[in-house]
Amino acid sequence: MEIYRSLKTLQADLYSQKFTVTAYIQHTLQTINAHAHLNAFVHVFEESALQQAHNLDAKLQNKQTLGKLFGLTIAIKDNIVYANHPATGASKILEGFISPYSATVVEKLLQEDAIIVGTTNCDEFAMGGSNENSYYGPVLNPHDTTRVSGGSSGGSAVAVAANLCIAALGSDTGGSIRQPASFCGIVGLKPTYGRVSRYGLMAYGSSFDQIGPFTHSVEDAALILEVIAGADAYDATCSPKIVPAYTSSLHSNQKYKIAYYNNALEHEGVDTEVRAACWQFIDRLKQEGHTVEAIEFAELDYIVPAYYVLTTAEASSNLSRYDGVKYGYRAKEATDLESTYKLSRSQGFGKEVQRRIMSGAFVLSAGYYDAYYSKAQKVRRIVAEKTHKTLEEYDFILCPTAPTPAYKIGAVQDSIASFLGDIFTVQANIAGVPGISLPLYQSQNGLPIGMQLMAGRWQEEKLLAFANDLHII
Ligand code: GLN
Repeated sequence: MEIYRSLKTLQADLYSQKFTVTAYIQHTLQTINAHAHLNAFVHVFEESALQQAHNLDAKLQNKQTLGKLFGLTIAIKDNIVYANHPATGASKILEGFISPYSATVVEKLLQEDAIIVGTTNCDEFAMGGSNENSYYGPVLNPHDTTRVSGGSSGGSAVAVAANLCIAALGSDTGGSIRQPASFCGIVGLKPTYGRVSRYGLMAYGSSFDQIGPFTHSVEDAALILEVIAGADAYDATCSPKIVPAYTSSLHSNQKYKIAYYNNALEHEGVDTEVRAACWQFIDRLKQEGHTVEAIEFAELDYIVPAYYVLTTAEASSNLSRYDGVKYGYRAKEATDLESTYKLSRSQGFGKEVQRRIMSGAFVLSAGYYDAYYSKAQKVRRIVAEKTHKTLEEYDFILCPTAPTPAYKIGAVQDSIASFLGDIFTVQANIAGVPGISLPLYQSQNGLPIGMQLMAGRWQEEKLLAFANDLHII
């Protein structure tokens, strides 16, 4: 069977009955098994995927109306729940947990006849940028299996990049969709905060988290966003704003005004090939008639610290629900309530998650609140206001998605060094604006280099149209 990298081409073959949906899913499941060494999946949902395929074949036979995502094989990050299926957030503490309900995004995918093939590996509770913090071990980058996939949604990126399914969902708190998309050479979209419901997404930093798609084409990203976006009674932060038909306006052919940060490009942590790719991109845009201007971003060095203070604070509160009582793992040696909490949490959470819970509790503690948490909130406000102002003047902000291409597994041991890898992605989360990573360049040794574009809040339509003009597969 040929490899399908876009839903349209697959649907054409399904409609013409070249093969059945069931045959396609059987083939997909075999492909997933044959690539088990990449460690992209935590759970593969053979039974329900085949069942859904049978239902879709029957619908096609009976000439019933088919959903927009008919036949789409899609994986979901292991922190998004699907009723009667396991989800662990790649943590030992949720080992054996079966969700009693489905996330809103899952309901929406199924309503439009997508087929959920499994959950994907990630950094534990989405905390990390290389997928090395997973209880299930690292995910291998298909472009070079000695290198990381990126993270935290590494399994979702690899599932798409290695053609194990057509699309995947990830979550992005500080870059977890865009950065692995950049490392793996695919499209990754983080929507505006509040565009997509977070109901059924395991909370990390609730005021930052958003769910979004990984795909090969911008068109598929637009289509999936069209389906998963929109108001939800179960998530008060989810906006009731009308969801535009993103796929009907994918060709803009307009000339835009684009800003880039000189100090970001010249930053010492930026790899020379990434910098060169970015200059090449700027030249290309100018040649194509866009206005591209350098601006300063004086707060650049403060955004990563502010992000980590705020997200660890939120995480320390969000993760208090995993206590050995309600769900998942419980320490066998526990004898009373206190030892149940202490032992289950210290045995169930990995090192990075424990570090973040502790730093979050620290920055919120009475004596340090003003020095850390309040200060970080102020930085957030300044950065958000500045970002919004820039995006009133310019259509887009452009920068590399990550300062380096994918690095070797085990090469970055220190948390701080790994945090600095988020320097270009956290701004979109701090300001709540949409951002997309496009696989436009490669290093000399063939590693993908993604370019990121950010747009103003609720401007996914313009962002996707421009992205589609730049990256057509
Ligand atoms: N690397 C960042 C972190 O570790 C981003 C993670 C994310 O977006 N979930 O927090």
